[in-house]
Amino acid sequence: MPQHLEIFQLGAPIIRMVAKRVSDIKASEVQALIDEMIYTCLESKGVGIAAPQIGHSLAIMIMASYPNTRYPYAPKMEPMALINPKVIDYSEEQIKDWEGCLSLPGIRARVPRHTHIEVLYYDREGKEQTVIFRDFLARLFQHEYDHLIGKVFIDRVESTQEIIMEKEYQRLMNAKLSKNESSF
Ligand SMILES: [Zn+2]
Repeated sequence: MPQHLEIFQLGAPIIRMVAKRVSDIKASEVQALIDEMIYTCLESKGVGIAAPQIGHSLAIMIMASYPNTRYPYAPKMEPMALINPKVIDYSEEQIKDWEGCLSLPGIRARVPRHTHIEVLYYDREGKEQTVIFRDFLARLFQHEYDHLIGKVFIDRVESTQEIIMEKEYQRLMNAKLSKNESSF
C-alpha cells in the first residue's frame, strides 16, 4: 500500500533544489515513489505534486486534474506521471490566475502562465511522449515543472500585492467559490 508522505514546505532546502533526472524509470523504487506521489496528491486534495515536495530531488511530477469550483472545466483525468519533462514550446500569450500550493499552505497568488505549452516527457513505462497542454492543464504543468527547477509560484508573481492569505482569498471569492479549493 502506498503511504501518505510528509509534504515539505517552503524553507526546506529541497524545495529550492534543481531535481535530478531519473535514469531508470522502470526501477521498482521509482515505480513505488510514483505510486506514493499519486496517493499523497489525492489524499491532500491536490491536483498535482512534484517529487521534491515529498523529499525526493527527482524530475517526476504528477498531474491529477479534476473539475472543482474554481476551475469547473478542469478536465477529469487519471493521475498521470511525467518523468524528466522538458518544455519544447510555449505560447507568447500568458494569463493570470490564482494558484495555491501544498508546500505553501494558506497562501494564494495570481500567477501569469503561458496559455499553452508543448512538452516532452517519459511516462511511467519509460515511453517518450509529447503533448500540448492548454489552459488549466498548462497552468498545472508549469506550476509542477517549477518545483523541478527549485521555483515556487510566488516567485512568478508580478507584484507582491497579488499574494494574499487563504482566509482573505475565501472572503474575496466567497460570492463565486466554495471552500473546496484545490492546491497544486
Ligand atoms: Zn506546488
